[in-house]
Amino acid sequence: MAGQCSDYINNLNDYLDGEISPELCKELEKHIGQCNNCRIMVDSLKQTVSLCREGKKENLPKALENKLTNILKEKWNKKFPKQ
Ligand SMILES: [Zn+2]
Repeated sequence: MAGQCSDYINNLNDYLDGEISPELCKELEKHIGQCNNCRIMVDSLKQTVSLCREGKKENLPKALENKLTNILKEKWNKKFPKQ
């Protein structure tokens, strides 16, 4: 069953880190191939990741920055539940 964008978006970081299962990866890539929103999201994340790795700090559009921050926060909270 195909998930919703939000389901996939939650996995995008793991996807970019190569930390998701091959099955989920396939599903995700299939969805990205069909979904413009998610494709933009992945491209943006990829760009951000590579910018971070290069140690560059570039200005992201505010809306995108907020989106990314929310995703990262959510991921962070999952990995490190509040003390
Ligand atoms: Zn989507």
